[in-house]
Amino acid sequence: MLKFFHPFSRCFLSSKGGSKDLEVCEEYNESNCDISDCHKLHLCIKFVVGRCSSGKCSLNHKVLSSEVKNILQSFGISLNETPRDILLSIIKSPKIQKVVEKFKSGQNEKDSSSGKQPEEITSSEKKKGETPSALSVKPKEEEKKVEKPLPIKTVWSSELRGDVTIDEICYNSVEDYCPYEEKGCWRLHCPYHFHWQIKTTLGKKQSWVNLTVEQSLALEKAFCDVNLSKVSLPILEPSASHSFDKGLLLILKGKSKWEADFDTMTLNLTSKNVTFELRRLCTETTENKRPDPCKFKWYFSDISKNWIEYGNIDSTGNENLKCNLSSKDIENHLQTRPNSPLPFQNQSYTYILDVQNMVQMNLDTNARRNIRRRPIPHLKEETDDDISGDLPSHWESMQQDERCRRATLLPSSEEYKKIDNLAKTQGASNNILKIERVQNPYVYRAFQNKVQEMKVTYKNDSSVNIRQLFHGTAPDTVPKICDENFDWRLHGTSSVAVGTVTTGNSGMARPPINTQYNLPFDSTVDNVSNPTIIVKYDKQEYYPEYIITFG
Ligand SMILES: [Zn+2]
Ligand SMILES: [Zn+2]
Ligand SMILES: [Zn+2]
Repeated sequence: MLKFFHPFSRCFLSSKGGSKDLEVCEEYNESNCDISDCHKLHLCIKFVVGRCSSGKCSLNHKVLSSEVKNILQSFGISLNETPRDILLSIIKSPKIQKVVEKFKSGQNEKDSSSGKQPEEITSSEKKKGETPSALSVKPKEEEKKVEKPLPIKTVWSSELRGDVTIDEICYNSVEDYCPYEEKGCWRLHCPYHFHWQIKTTLGKKQSWVNLTVEQSLALEKAFCDVNLSKVSLPILEPSASHSFDKGLLLILKGKSKWEADFDTMTLNLTSKNVTFELRRLCTETTENKRPDPCKFKWYFSDISKNWIEYGNIDSTGNENLKCNLSSKDIENHLQTRPNSPLPFQNQSYTYILDVQNMVQMNLDTNARRNIRRRPIPHLKEETDDDISGDLPSHWESMQQDERCRRATLLPSSEEYKKIDNLAKTQGASNNILKIERVQNPYVYRAFQNKVQEMKVTYKNDSSVNIRQLFHGTAPDTVPKICDENFDWRLHGTSSVAVGTVTTGNSGMARPPINTQYNLPFDSTVDNVSNPTIIVKYDKQEYYPEYIITFG
C-alpha cells in the first residue's frame, strides 16, 4: 500500500488540508471505484452514518482495513484508538456530516424519520429496566427503536434478540472485559469468537435471533468442514425453562428437524416449507488480533467434486493447474474490494474469482466452479464424557438411549450424490431406490478405537488405509447388520481399516503372521498392489456406513 505515500499523492492530500476534507467515496458505494490511489474512504456510507442494517451488505465495514487506515493516516487521524472512536472522528469531518444531513432529510433513505445528529451517537443514554421481551414487542417501542438505531444496551448472545449495530462479536467480551458494556456496545457480546443467528419476525419487525450455544457449536463444527454444506440443527428440549429457550422453541416449532444449508445460508424445515436466513458472526479483527474462528480458507470444487484450497494441487495431480492465489490473497481482496472480480491464473488458464456469487470462472473455457469460504478448523475434539463429541458432525443428533438410527439421505444432498457416484464407479448398475446412513455410535466407536490402535501399532497414519467398500446382502439381514455389525457383507458401503495386507486365499480362517511386527496381517487381498478383494478377519475393523436399496 505504498501508493498512498507516493510524493504526488502526498502533495495532493496535504494541499487539500487536514481531516476537514475527508470523504467517503461515492463511486465505491454506488458501483465500483477504479481510481488506483483514491483518497476517499472505501467504507459503506450507510455504515459510517450508523444506518447500515443489512446483514448482506458487501461494502466495507472495517475502519481498520489497510486501505482505510492508510487514508486516515494521511489525513492525520490517529489510529491509536478503538474502531468506535475512529469512526467518531470520521463522522466529525464536515463533508461526512453533510452526508449525515442528507440521510436526515431522506435523500438517501426512504425512512426520513430516522435522522440523527452525529453528536447524538456519543450519547451514553441507557434505558433502565428494559429487558428484551421474547416475542411481543409493543408498537410504541418499535418506533422508538427506529429513531435510535444505535445501541442503548449491550446485546448478548444468550438473549433472544441478536440485532447489533456492527455485525461482529466484541473481541473484549470474549477475551477480557468490554469498556462499553455499560454504555451499550456496538457489537455482540458472546462467550466464543463465533455465533450463529437466524432472521425472523419478532413483533412486526425482521430481527436476528440468537441460536443457543449448543446449536451454534454444532453448526460451527460442521461449517469448519469444507465438505459439508448441510447439517441438522440440534433439537431444543421442550423442557428448557429459560425464557430465551422458550422464545426460540416457538420460532423453531418445538421438536421440528431443521437443516442448515451453508451454501444458501438458510435454515430450512423442508417438511413445512419454512426457511430462515442464517448468518454467522465472528469477532472484529485487527492485524495482531485474529482469533482462529476469524481465519478463513478458500476452496474450489475441482473436477472430481473435491474441495481444494487455493494454491494447492487438485485431484488431477497436475502441477500446471496450481494457481498463483492463496486463501490469504482472496481474504484480503474480500476485505478491501469485494465488489470487483479477482483475476488470477495458473500455467494453463486465466480465471476470475467472483466473491459476490461465490464462483470461479475460467476465461478460456468458460467453466464455472463453486467456491467456499470456511474458517480453519478450530474446535477442539470434545472429551469422552461428551456422548456425541466423537461422532461424525454430519450425523443426525440422536437421543441418549438410541442404539442405532438409519437416516435416509435426500437425493439432492451432496452425501447422497457422493455415495451414488461411488456405487457407479465401483460397478453398480442397478437403479438406486434409497440410501440410508447407518448411525450406530457403539459400532462406530469400536471401529475408531481399532483405527487408533492400528495407528499406534504401525506408528504411521498412512499404513492404516481406510477404504469404502460395497457388499451385497438379502434385505432381511440388514437390521442385524445395522444393530450389531453382525455381518458386513451387505449391499451398502462400509469404511474398512485395511492396515497391513498380504495375499490370501479362500481357505484361510486367520491371516498369516506379519514378521515385521510379529502380529497377524490385518487383511488379506487377491493382489497386494491393486486389490479388488479385501478379506477382513476382525469385525471391529469395518463400519457399515450406508445401506443402499436397489430396485
Ligand atoms: Zn474511491
Ligand atoms: Zn453496509
Ligand atoms: Zn463490547
